[in-house]
Amino acid sequence: MAIVINGKAIAQSIRDDLTVKVTKLKEKGITPTLAVILVGEDPASLSYITGKEKALAQTGMESRERRLPADSSEAQLLQLIAGFNTDPSIHGILVQLPLPAHINTERVICAIDPAKDVDGFHPMSVGNAVLDRAGFIPCTPQGIVVLLQESQIPIAGADLVIVGRSNLVGKPLANLLSRRSLNATVTLCHTGTRDLAAHTRRADILIAAIGKPRFITADMVRSGAVVVDVGVNRVPDIHAKNGYRLCGDVDYEPVGEKASHITPVPGGVGPLTITMLLKNVIDAAAALAET
Ligand code: NAP
Repeated sequence: MAIVINGKAIAQSIRDDLTVKVTKLKEKGITPTLAVILVGEDPASLSYITGKEKALAQTGMESRERRLPADSSEAQLLQLIAGFNTDPSIHGILVQLPLPAHINTERVICAIDPAKDVDGFHPMSVGNAVLDRAGFIPCTPQGIVVLLQESQIPIAGADLVIVGRSNLVGKPLANLLSRRSLNATVTLCHTGTRDLAAHTRRADILIAAIGKPRFITADMVRSGAVVVDVGVNRVPDIHAKNGYRLCGDVDYEPVGEKASHITPVPGGVGPLTITMLLKNVIDAAAALAET
């Protein structure tokens, strides 16, 4: 059976260090503060922002939440962002995605001041990341790298296969892991990939970011591979309180029999994603302290 990578424990030890940084910033009169914007009442989005706000509070930071009704106009949202952009007490701005269909997500992301773009989705942040320049790196890819490093998984030279090429996870992760400083040999797979299993089976490190429950089966995994499951899927469960339970993109038990290391869902990548958000907000506040 594979070693189960305990994302919760790794995240907690990083958060302890971040709490010290927050205390130091507070001594300088700066309380790192994140503006959190939610449009509509999507239950998954609501639970995500609650988790993020709780983590901010536990680390000594503040959040300023603004909820807009689902039928709010794009102009209203842009006006709210513009206010946060010029508010010196706000260090980071997070617009919870997905947005309602009538709002243009790209225009909204572009409206955030890149200095406060703690999600790292602004084209300026994306460009800086590709060029390996200083800037915000999206939280999930950054969290996955930390998870591998803290678990002493060798990344340099590894044959690393990512399934999923979204702008939020797969693409920035492929870019990050191909940096000279990390030196993985990255293959990025998607729905256009011919013979997906041929790629996944040769991976030293396999990362699934697909959004399909239990998609990666044991026959797609090499014996001894490290398997990182990014997927968070809600599957019906009559025994669960809410009528559903969370499930990853990996067929956990059979793959766990074959892999050397595996991340669980929940408790794997998720806690690191939130922790990297905390780190980005602290970095944004610290940058302000230096100006
Ligand atoms: P997404 O935007 O829906 O992208 C899914 C990717 O998977 C796409 O690139 C798609 O390929 C690929 N894909 C889908 N079916 C495939 C197939 N049959 N064969 C090969 N590739 C396939 O999803 P996302 O935003 O990246 O999120 C992925 C999962 O991670 C979701 O479950 C999400 O909830 C979860 N997530 C978790 C965290 C966390 O902190 N734990 C953070 C973010 C996301 P095409 O591009 O060809 O369509």
